[in-house]
Amino acid sequence: MRRRAFIGLGSNLGDRRAYLEAAVSALGAEGDAIAVSPLYETEPVGGPEGQGPYLNVVVALLTADTPRRLLQRCQALEAAAARVRRERWGPRTLDADVLLVEGCTVDEPDLTVPHPRLWERRFVLQPLADLVPDLVPPARLAASGGSVRRVGRLESTLSDRL
Ligand code: ADP
Ligand code: MG
Repeated sequence: MRRRAFIGLGSNLGDRRAYLEAAVSALGAEGDAIAVSPLYETEPVGGPEGQGPYLNVVVALLTADTPRRLLQRCQALEAAAARVRRERWGPRTLDADVLLVEGCTVDEPDLTVPHPRLWERRFVLQPLADLVPDLVPPARLAASGGSVRRVGRLESTLSDRL
């Protein structure tokens, strides 16, 4: 059975746009990515002072993958971007998170779905709301934190099949 799932991608180090484009095209290569949100530039939330702004997008999948398989795909994307894990929430070439998998919840030490900080983070809620307004009540979007600014779209060959 295929379900809708949403992956959050963020980059604040190096060629941010290129890292996001590579991740979107790698997701698209598996055939189950159906849409990519507009691109946002966002202020870092949490983590050390002085790190640069992020670029963020959300990718929608229609997939038979389990949440755990999606986490593995996210980790492979991060590895491909040569993400170096230094400090928690510090700067990264690519952060890839499993945000939501419709009809699924997971609560395990290394995997929580929906993502535990989803509803706090405007940098994921805004692009998610752009893709599927029904998933994000306006009050929840308004209650989320952090500044986000729409800066266009990624180059992407993903057609909008949502
Ligand atoms: P954040 O994504 O909150 O900025 P990190 O990327 O540093 O923080 O967190 C990575 C860890 O979070 C991973 O080791 C992973 O096992 C765990 N994790 C738990 N739930 C999820 C999820 N839904 N998506 C991605 N990683 C998750
Ligand atoms: Mg992460």
